[in-house]
Amino acid sequence: MRTAVVVGAGMAGLAAAGALARDGWRVTLLERGERVAAPPTALVLWPNGRRALESLDPDGGWCGIAAPLPDGGVRRPDGQWLVAPHTRPGAGHAPAVVHLEDLYDALVAGLGDGVEIRTGVQVSTVRARRAARPAVGDGRVVFEADLIVAADGIDSPVRRVLAPEAVAVGSGFAAWQAVVPGYRAPALPEDQAAGGETLGAGYRFVSMPLGERAAGRGGVYWVATAAGAPRPESPATQLSLLRRWFAEWHAPVGELLAATRPEDLVPQEVRELRPLPRAYGFRCGSGGVVLLGDAAHAMPHHLGQGACLAFEDVATLRSLVASVEPGPALCQAVEAYDRARRPRTASVVRQSRRMSAVVQARGRLALRARDAALGSLRPRILGHAHGLAADWHPPE
Ligand SMILES: Cc1cc2nc3c(=O)[nH]c(=O)nc-3n(C[C@H](O)[C@H](O)[C@H](O)COP(=O)(O)OP(=O)(O)OC[C@H]3O[C@@H](n4cnc5c(N)ncnc54)[C@H](O)[C@@H]3O)c2cc1C
Repeated sequence: MRTAVVVGAGMAGLAAAGALARDGWRVTLLERGERVAAPPTALVLWPNGRRALESLDPDGGWCGIAAPLPDGGVRRPDGQWLVAPHTRPGAGHAPAVVHLEDLYDALVAGLGDGVEIRTGVQVSTVRARRAARPAVGDGRVVFEADLIVAADGIDSPVRRVLAPEAVAVGSGFAAWQAVVPGYRAPALPEDQAAGGETLGAGYRFVSMPLGERAAGRGGVYWVATAAGAPRPESPATQLSLLRRWFAEWHAPVGELLAATRPEDLVPQEVRELRPLPRAYGFRCGSGGVVLLGDAAHAMPHHLGQGACLAFEDVATLRSLVASVEPGPALCQAVEAYDRARRPRTASVVRQSRRMSAVVQARGRLALRARDAALGSLRPRILGHAHGLAADWHPPE
């Protein structure tokens, strides 16, 4: 029987393990955490991400958990429109927002009985010699397989060994995410009912309503970003700081921050890989090792494409290995995965960095130029990004 070891039970690893198991692989899923758990936040799924998920598991019930996300436009902190709503390029390719607990539940349900889940296993060693079967280990146990899938996030120890040139670096800002559950969420003003985005000097605030049934309770998801390093203070102090930074911003920014509790807050430094790895596929033994998700192409979050690209990775890998046997054919599939994914992800990462520079502009002149140009610039960048998202279809 064909065997695979998937390292990391985040979104990418869960999707990969489920997809391979449905195709008849015997899969071992290794997770360093004591359990498989979703962060208490949400995610935008662009059409490429939705298509990838639907192709991986047509019965996965993705439509039921994701709420359509209308275009809420872009404002300045005083409420003035920089980009009016409903002008999003690529209309007709609406993204959707999903609570991560719902997404993880669906991905875990998709694992079925074909996946052995081993939690509390922190992978620290990798064997990827040309002549030997690939393997990973945690210092106590070695896990060998025909195919190793490294979905172990931006600090991937597997990538550090195979592509040490790709280094995780700070993108220059910190992010805070939270879901305000439905029973505590403030009523959104009429013109913000769809949520929206607000850009200040080095600050950004995005909010979006979750579907009525999200994680059993609906609510509103928000993400704030601020230039600078992550804060060392307690969540309660960080929340006070956010309330101070965003105090004069138009409704419902203040109301959402007031309704947020310290335990809702997920703070993190935004990081990316620079440069990207020189390869995503490494042949060895009867197959090889592949990198996917943030382990391969972590990027700033402003385009909301990190997880979507991870699902594309999985759909591509699955199509390439679905019916091949270990040996030369699997080795070739590993190399084909690399050829298929590197140009695509490099182009989305470039767009994401450009977008990041636009939305995080600081300084009087930069801000004036940004605001003046935003009406045409943002739709142009976004149009390209939406094209990238809308144009991708899962391989046959
Ligand atoms: C503020 C913010 C907003 C975002 N918004 C969006 C969005 O709207 N849309 C979108 O598509 N993307 C978005 N992203 C990006 C998205 O969150 C990531 O791309 C995605 O979570 C990557 O998933 P992953 O499974 O590759 O990695 P991770 O989620 O990091 O999962 C890695 C898993 O591997 C495990 N692991 C790590 N090391 C080891 C080890 N040594 N041994 C065993 N297990 C290990 C970890 O515990 C974890 O479970 C956003 C990111 C940020 C920061």
